Amino acid sequence: MMLQSSLSRCFMSTTRSTITKNKSATTTATHRSISSAQLTISSDSPNNNNNIPQNKQDLQFGKVFSSHMLQIPYKGGSGGWQSPEIVPFHDLKISPAASSLHYGLQCFEGMKAYKSVNDSNDIRLFRPQLNMKRLSNSMDRLCMPGSDFDHEELIECIAKLVRLDQDWIPTEEGYSLYIRPTVISTHPYLGVAAPDEILLYVITCPVGPYYPSGFAPVRLTADTPYVRAWPGGTGAAKVGGNYAGSMKPQTDASNRGYSQILWVFGEEEEITEVGAMNVFFFLEKEDGSKGRELVTPPLTRGDILPGVTRQSIIDLSKSWGEFDVVERSITLPEVRKAASEGRLIEAFGAGTAAVVTPISHIEHKGSDIEIPATGDLTKRFFSDLMGIQYGRIEGPEGWSVKI
Ligand SMILES: *Cc1c(COP(=O)(O)O)cnc(C)c1O
Repeated sequence: MMLQSSLSRCFMSTTRSTITKNKSATTTATHRSISSAQLTISSDSPNNNNNIPQNKQDLQFGKVFSSHMLQIPYKGGSGGWQSPEIVPFHDLKISPAASSLHYGLQCFEGMKAYKSVNDSNDIRLFRPQLNMKRLSNSMDRLCMPGSDFDHEELIECIAKLVRLDQDWIPTEEGYSLYIRPTVISTHPYLGVAAPDEILLYVITCPVGPYYPSGFAPVRLTADTPYVRAWPGGTGAAKVGGNYAGSMKPQTDASNRGYSQILWVFGEEEEITEVGAMNVFFFLEKEDGSKGRELVTPPLTRGDILPGVTRQSIIDLSKSWGEFDVVERSITLPEVRKAASEGRLIEAFGAGTAAVVTPISHIEHKGSDIEIPATGDLTKRFFSDLMGIQYGRIEGPEGWSVKI
């Protein structure tokens, strides 16, 4: 009953915005998209630059925030996206009935701005279009309005925010400004329904290298009774709810001496992700051909988050043409067998925070599968991707976006 009403509401609001759009083509625009031309920077926006951490070695992820934030409200009725504003970083004021606080109507993105070591005016984003596309998809999965916003316009607003707070970007390879676009429902309604009112905001924070003193391979456990995602669920959307459910399993794993969970799904023990990263296995093929393949689980089941790093590793290795790159289902028994036959060359996680994370152990049914770490391919992806991100290496067209 509840489900039905939320579904029909979702359908109704979709229909309504379509009608509004059609109308706006012929009469006045009532449903505004995000427009960077309307961006205002609040005049009383002092730079808080004396709060920039002086000892960047001590930077801890996500604890210190830059001076400003970007905010773009979406209003119901005929309001649509309002003018983007850059304002001082501040606490939000929302109704305690806001449905983000009750039903997890929240999604986010994670991206970085990189400053060149040689030219502090050279600031870049890495494939931001992929983050925008994913944000649209996550919003759509939560039935949020306005998910058809213009991606380039939001990138432009984010670029303005980063430029304004550019002194917060630490200059040294491995350091960057982490960018956290977030969308929450501000709709003050306890009914289980698609939201009419949302707030898109972007905060940023200076971050240091994930591995300050070289790679630290991780020990994983697949022995958990919990499941991160499943076909038809929200695993392919970057929604906070996916993370809420992972706290207890992660804590249990840490208490048992494993740094992250290797998430599997189903009777066959299909591998999905590692912690909050995508996962890759580099194998010698079973057919005796001595051919090698790089395998990552497929997006087709809908239980994998489509990572920007994942896509970039697939694209890069295809361009090298040195081994096969396959998006296919891979199970724990297959990985165990490959390891026992000496065919498992290396394995690693992939995500914006660490770029790549070498995997040295996987606990499975009480015993550890051992994997050589850190392997050469893992190192090569790390240095090539970093090089492209900082503009040291020329990447494929459109990957490194100067702002
Ligand atoms: C964000 C995220 C990733 C990594 O995506 P990138 O775009 O490469 O940073 C992988 N898995 C999950 C569950 C995530 O939330």
